[in-house]
Amino acid sequence: MEERICEAVRKAKADYTEVRWEKIFRSRAVFQRDQLMALEATEEQGGIVRALVDGSWGIAVFTDPEELPKKIEEATHLARTASRHVRDKVTLAEVEPVEDRYRGQMERDIRGVSLEEKRKLAETYNRIILEYHPAIVASSVRYADSLRHAIYANSEGTYVEQEVPDVTLMLAAVARKNGDVQQGFESLGFAGGFEKALGHEEKAKAAAKRAVDLLSAKPVKGGRYTVILDQDLAGVFIHEAFGHICEADFLLRNEPMRKIMELGKRFGVENLNVVDDGFVPGARGNCPYDDEGVPRQRVYLIQEGVLTGLLHSRATAHKLATKPTGNARAVSWEHEPIVRMRNTFIAPGPFTFEEMPDGIDYGIYACGAFGGQTEFEQFTFSAAYGYEIVNGKLGEMVRDVVLTGNVFQTLRNIEMIGKDFQLKGSAGGCGKGGQWPLPITTGAPHVRIRDVIVGGR
Ligand SMILES: [Zn+2]
Repeated sequence: MEERICEAVRKAKADYTEVRWEKIFRSRAVFQRDQLMALEATEEQGGIVRALVDGSWGIAVFTDPEELPKKIEEATHLARTASRHVRDKVTLAEVEPVEDRYRGQMERDIRGVSLEEKRKLAETYNRIILEYHPAIVASSVRYADSLRHAIYANSEGTYVEQEVPDVTLMLAAVARKNGDVQQGFESLGFAGGFEKALGHEEKAKAAAKRAVDLLSAKPVKGGRYTVILDQDLAGVFIHEAFGHICEADFLLRNEPMRKIMELGKRFGVENLNVVDDGFVPGARGNCPYDDEGVPRQRVYLIQEGVLTGLLHSRATAHKLATKPTGNARAVSWEHEPIVRMRNTFIAPGPFTFEEMPDGIDYGIYACGAFGGQTEFEQFTFSAAYGYEIVNGKLGEMVRDVVLTGNVFQTLRNIEMIGKDFQLKGSAGGCGKGGQWPLPITTGAPHVRIRDVIVGGR
């Protein structure tokens, strides 16, 4: 395949041509209550051609390698036709051609582990949840893995072969008492082999315990409080509320937001550092080369409180007169790469968690992310659970904790950044432009923020 692709790309007649060919292995074992809902392994392969003619893209997808020369012609023809009508011309920022092969580490290759063993593992976690307490009425356990092997070549001489493993685990429990229903869950994701899915019995128990504990937790009292976010929630906040608006393709379509996101502008306290990194050992968001063959960069979005970087593809980098960052990613061979995050996190700061509730008369410690929405500057996040902070001490468990605010105001209101950094993959992934779920990780230490609007559900 390597020879075939390189030769086809060499012969291509467009101004620029690239081919990505992928083989993806996937398997999963899913339990709901005491039922096995899915147990399967699949394999698929396919490729995509992008040709650039006079500033316009033409795209063609294919599943039969024999079709490659024809598909390159097709993409070139589409690009040529489009170039007569498109006024907003694409130019790619220059990059040095590279040649490399990368293979993600797996102690136990997921392809070599039987479906039976995967079923047994999911069943074990499922049983732990179901047997935890009489109030547990339902469970959902989902083990899923994949191995993406991608060959990428372009007409500038870049050739990159990558094999990236991915393993995720969703452990969820539902508890019921007197008509009240509560959920607890743990969501985990790794770049690694089957070994990464082992040994999470305590997490299964924690999910079940949380569902049960929430039955006796009181609903949070709405108000404006100083809030401490745990690592999970702070990480999701920085990805959802801030990371997405650092994606240059979004900013190029949104003039008012582009004016706000001016490099060099202060966005937060001195010790606020926000990073998007293409490689952290074992992290799910790893992509050593992006789907334009650009080597990963560590991008400081915010450095010492100041906006210092944005996330780019080659096209957006050219438009904004900067260098590509390695953030052009596609969820699979059926899609063109668009600007996406990888491992996005708030870097650690100077405070211990014990110091953080100090001086708070009444506040909320918000934990875990249950989902959320952002619309431009505004965000709404549901925490999975929380605790009151009373007179500088953690108090009772509370539920229905929903945080809302303006992302820029919230960043300015960060008062303390903890030392206790955690990077975390979760079982889902990032969605954008119809491409979901893209493996990413989010991370942060504990973060204390003043003046956050907390509402009950
Ligand atoms: Zn996202």
